Amino acid sequence: MSDLKTYQMYIGDGFVDPAGGEWFESFDPYAGKPWARIPRGTAEDVERAVEAAHAAFTEGDWPKLNATQRGALLRKLGDLIAEHAEALAEIEVRDNGKLIAEMGGQLRYVPQWYYYFGGLADKIEGSVIPTDKAQVFNFTRHEPLGVVAAITPWNSPLLLASWKLAPALAAGNTVVLKPSEFTSASALEFVKLVEQAGFPPGVVNVVTGFGKDVGAPLVEHAKVAKVAFTGGELSGQKVYETAAKGLKKVSLELGGKSPNIVFDDANLDNAVKGAISGIFAATGQTCIAGSRLLVQESIHNEFVERLVAFAKTARMGNPMSLETQVGPVTTMPQYEKILGFMEIAKGEGAKVALGGGKASRPECGDGWFVEPTIFTGVHNEMRIAQEEVFGPVLSVIPFRDEEDAVRIGNGVLYGLAAGVWTQNMRRAITMSERLQAGTVWVNMYRAVSYTSPFGGYKRSGLGRENGQDAIYEYLQTKSVWINLAEEIPNPFVMG
Ligand code: NAD
Repeated sequence: MSDLKTYQMYIGDGFVDPAGGEWFESFDPYAGKPWARIPRGTAEDVERAVEAAHAAFTEGDWPKLNATQRGALLRKLGDLIAEHAEALAEIEVRDNGKLIAEMGGQLRYVPQWYYYFGGLADKIEGSVIPTDKAQVFNFTRHEPLGVVAAITPWNSPLLLASWKLAPALAAGNTVVLKPSEFTSASALEFVKLVEQAGFPPGVVNVVTGFGKDVGAPLVEHAKVAKVAFTGGELSGQKVYETAAKGLKKVSLELGGKSPNIVFDDANLDNAVKGAISGIFAATGQTCIAGSRLLVQESIHNEFVERLVAFAKTARMGNPMSLETQVGPVTTMPQYEKILGFMEIAKGEGAKVALGGGKASRPECGDGWFVEPTIFTGVHNEMRIAQEEVFGPVLSVIPFRDEEDAVRIGNGVLYGLAAGVWTQNMRRAITMSERLQAGTVWVNMYRAVSYTSPFGGYKRSGLGRENGQDAIYEYLQTKSVWINLAEEIPNPFVMG
């Protein structure tokens, strides 16, 4: 018998064993060892979960609640998450190796999604339409879609799940959440709070397992009305293809290769800090990483020198320590991918200004650590500048002027985010208009909020999360026509 913590899935009104009776191990990336057993779901579990969610959508207490009551439940859930933020953050750090300093803050912030969308639940108003037809009354209602499949990655498990759950539930849908196979534990702890808040059975279900075993049948299931996905581009394409066969609604938050652009008129102290947080925060494992640092030629050498000096101060080690500034990589495949990209960059002729390999500092123990890495001499056509690494690997690319910065900045397939560092107001506004990205930060980097729309241009995704409009990703509009005429004209007489 294993002494690892063993989880169950959450389907309908409680925790259940996986139908196939199998579990897999979840690893602590700092220890490099397994710490928990996660149920290995199959299509049978998906079937049970979707049926439970569908039943909860069509009958029972959930559809009977009015929007204000739904909002109150969401706010209660927010309160419970706030109460348990520390414990949830510790589980996430154990499972994904991100810093307790970051995850603690993140989990204390997550309740805001439930407060915000809980507050929005009873403010979704239809319209009375002034139509061109005589003697009719025409109005619109916004109605929920049904069962939402929420599929999430490993880098910010509960935050990214909440970006989907809060608007989906506020709109009156039910949800089957499928967390990443690398970081499933926190979702299984979180769902206890959903139950405690008083959500009716089947409104939120959590199925765990691998993408092909659980994610794919979930997307395919005929009773799933909408798929909200965050993850890599290739999985996103598969999800989109499968969802297309069932003509389902889809939103996709995918990868990025975001430019962080420093002009020679910028406050360079701030720009250095912004470049560092853009790529080394969360060990570079964020979709919004500013992985291409575009630096104006006139300040290139001085800026790189300051950047390297600052990056060298990063303390690596145990992610549970508040002192640690760069933690391990979350998964073994990701660790190998990052090291592989470092070799690709060297092979392409990039120069190592810092790092460039695995970290063998004593404080890193047996963890999956790579050195914070800065490459110079990078051209935008190189693979290291075009492909998402999802690790602490920065490519520095020089540029001449604004025109050049726009050309290079937009010269990738992605368009998730961009940063601009300048003190010139005209330049700040012009650049924010010309950059093809769903988010542009000026003299800052990496800010997101429940209040502000987030999503990708180009291959970085479809649809938006956060902000008021996000709730419409989980609603459909019905137009209701009511005849006011006493008598309906003869249908054979046109006119
Ligand atoms: P991934 O695509 O491997 O997995 C994401 C989720 O999809 C997991 O739960 C996985 O099991 C599931 N999945 C995989 N194949 C599937 C399939 N065929 N059908 C249905 N589900 C499937 O991504 P990852 O490695 O967990 O996460 C890293 C990626 O996520 C990066 O590319 C990153 O840029 C992206 N990301 C994007 C955002 C954003 O908001 N834009 C945020 C965080 C991460």
